[in-house]
Amino acid sequence: MVKQRTLKSITRAVGVGIHSGQKVELTLRPAPPDTGIVFRRVDLSQPVDIPVRADTVCDTRMATTVSPGGDPNGPKVQTIEHLLSACAGLGLDNVVVDISADEVPILDGSAASFVYLLQSAGIELQDAPKKFLRVKKPVEVRQGEGKRLMWAKLEPLHGYTLSFQIEFDNPAVSATGQQYVFDMGSGQYKREIARARTFGMASDIDLMRSRGLTLGGSMDNAIVVDDYKVLNAEGLRYDDEFVKHKILDAIGDMQVIGHPLLAAYTSFKGGHALNNKLLRALLADPEAYELVSFDDERAAPAGFAELAPAW
Ligand SMILES: [Zn+2]
Repeated sequence: MVKQRTLKSITRAVGVGIHSGQKVELTLRPAPPDTGIVFRRVDLSQPVDIPVRADTVCDTRMATTVSPGGDPNGPKVQTIEHLLSACAGLGLDNVVVDISADEVPILDGSAASFVYLLQSAGIELQDAPKKFLRVKKPVEVRQGEGKRLMWAKLEPLHGYTLSFQIEFDNPAVSATGQQYVFDMGSGQYKREIARARTFGMASDIDLMRSRGLTLGGSMDNAIVVDDYKVLNAEGLRYDDEFVKHKILDAIGDMQVIGHPLLAAYTSFKGGHALNNKLLRALLADPEAYELVSFDDERAAPAGFAELAPAW
């Protein structure tokens, strides 16, 4: 049987939120089968549980944000996508995350620190079948026209691949690889995807700061580019770090569904908002998907039954 996974022990992290600039503490705890990923706001007078699901996503403008029932006025946790991406990369199904503020810490701007944290806590197989969400027919969402066109789609596949294409009108970005395809069954998440950092344009960052956004952002947790070049002294971690970060984000954004997908995901210039629209379009059509589990590991797609290899 392909089994659900949780953590073996409790682990903690401290950092700052990239948007709020606030200091925040995380405690990640093992959780029983079928819990999913649940954030628990422990800073409120009554702790509030926020399960991560497609319908609890309440904001996707700068980052992916969840609140109970998706209520935009409810208690929130924002910037969940990198932690969720790390959970998906390690095949974790059930984790309770105590959080002391409304934003997940940015750490180094990638998923690498979360992967390290989760792996040092250890990963435990649980005596319950892992449920995959199998896409049965193509679902596509589009936005904009001409140069502003973006789209994302899911197509049936016995496996899980993500293909992303970006197109930035910036020489520092367009000099790098603009397209990448990643196979989640390859066991290469930690090596090929997890270390890709979030990025921003120096000019946008000044503008966002003046609006009270990106207060915790710096070259310690983001790639910053001006009109011509990457400003970080250490340069890029991958030749195609920008598009790889978009795949890292997409893996996290798709994971809000609570199950690994069996599908081919493709996006052209999409982002958090389009990813959530795609999930909602998928879930709105009961004919388009089903939950499946594998009693016989040999029936699962290659690479899905094994624990991800260590660094
Ligand atoms: Zn990101």
